[in-house]
Amino acid sequence: TKLNINLGERSYPIYITTDYNGIGKAIDDAALKGKYVMITDTNVDKYQADECMKAFESVGLDVKKFVIEAGESNKNLDTVRQIYDFLITLKLDRNATIIALGGGVVGDIAGFVASTFLRGINFVQIPTTLLAQSDSSVGGKVGVDFKGHKNIIGSFYQPKLVYINVNSLKTLPKRDLSSGLAEVVKHGIIKDEEFYEYIDENAEKIMNLDERVLQYIVKVNCSIKGSVVEKDERESGLRAILNFGHTIGHAIETVMDFKLLHGECVSLGMVAVFNLANYLDLIDDYATQKVKETLEKINLPVSLKGIDVEKVYNQMFYDKKIVGDKLKFILPRKKIGEVVQCTLEDENLIKKAIESLDN
Ligand code: NAD
Ligand code: ZN
Repeated sequence: TKLNINLGERSYPIYITTDYNGIGKAIDDAALKGKYVMITDTNVDKYQADECMKAFESVGLDVKKFVIEAGESNKNLDTVRQIYDFLITLKLDRNATIIALGGGVVGDIAGFVASTFLRGINFVQIPTTLLAQSDSSVGGKVGVDFKGHKNIIGSFYQPKLVYINVNSLKTLPKRDLSSGLAEVVKHGIIKDEEFYEYIDENAEKIMNLDERVLQYIVKVNCSIKGSVVEKDERESGLRAILNFGHTIGHAIETVMDFKLLHGECVSLGMVAVFNLANYLDLIDDYATQKVKETLEKINLPVSLKGIDVEKVYNQMFYDKKIVGDKLKFILPRKKIGEVVQCTLEDENLIKKAIESLDN
C-alpha cells in the first residue's frame, strides 16, 4: 500500500509493506541520486540491518552505515556530533540522503542531522518500531534531548519518503510493541471510533503480529496522523489533539525517572484523562471502562501503585507545551472518537484523576 502525505512542496509517500524488497525502487521513484548514509542503532543493526542492506545491494545502491548506541540516553548532541564527523569523512554534497533505520530515537536523531548538515540534505525513514511506524515517522518532528529536557532541541523537517516493513516488528521486544500500541489506541480515541473498535476486536492478532492486521493498523494510523499534520504542520492548533493522554503521561514519565516506556505512561495518562472527563460528565462510565479494558488487552498498564500525585501534578507545569501557567487537557467528549481541548483550573479534580491510577 502507498499513502501520500500532502504538504505542498514537502509532500511525500509512505509505503506500507511486508519486506524490504521495494526500498530500492522507492528511492529511485523519489529521485534521490546522491550518496546514501544509513543511520541505525546497535539493536536494529543486529536484527534488521543486514536484510535491509541486502535490498539496497540488490538494486546496486551503495549505502554506508553508521551505528549509534541504542537507547534514549544517546539521543543527544554527542551522538549528533559523531554522525557529523562520519558524514564529513564521506565528503557529502547537498544531494546526499540520510536513511534512518530504527525506532523513534534513530529517526529523531538522523532527521535532526539531515535537517542541519549542509543546511539540509535528503531524509528517508525506515521505521522499525510500532511507535515509529504509526507515529513518529509521520509529522516531521526531529530533534534530540539536552540536559535532561526531552526533545528540546530540534526542528520540523519532512522526509522524502517513509518505507515501512511491518515484519520488522518480529524482532521488536514485546514490551516495545505494547508501548507503541498506546499511540495507536490514542489515534482511534481522538479521531476514529470504528478504528478503535477494530483495535479492540483484533488485539490478539496484533499481539501475534498478523501481517495483514498490522498493515491495516499502520495504514490507518499514518493517515490519521497525516491528516492532522496536513492541517497543522507546525503545531499551531489542531495538532495539539495528538497530545491526548500526554499531559499527565509525560509528567508520569519524568517523575518515574524514565523507567516506564513512553507508551506505558501515555496509557496511564489516557486512563487518568478518561476519569477526569468522566468526573466532568463529558463521557460515561461505559466508555471509560472500555478503554481500560482495551489497554489491558494489549498489555499496557492502567494503574500505578503508589503514584506520587503531588509530584506528577507539579511536573505537568514544566511541559513545554504549556502556554502561560494554565493546564490544557485534551478530553474525550461524549464518545470514543471525539475529543475537545479544555483549560482546567480545578486543581483538586485534576489531582483526583491522577490519584485514580493508584489502585
Ligand atoms: P527506540 O527507538 O529507542 O526503540 C526501542 C528499542 O527497540 C530500542 O532498544 C531499539 O534499539 C529497539 N529496536 C527498534 N527496532 C527494533 C526491531 N525491529 N527489532 C529489535 N529491536 C528493535 O524507541 P521508540 O519507542 O521507537 O521511539 C521513542 C522515541 O521516539 C523517543 O525519543 C520519542 O521522543 C520519540 N518520538 C518522536 C516523535 C516525533 O514526532 N518525532 C513522536 C513520538 C515519539
Ligand atoms: Zn507520544
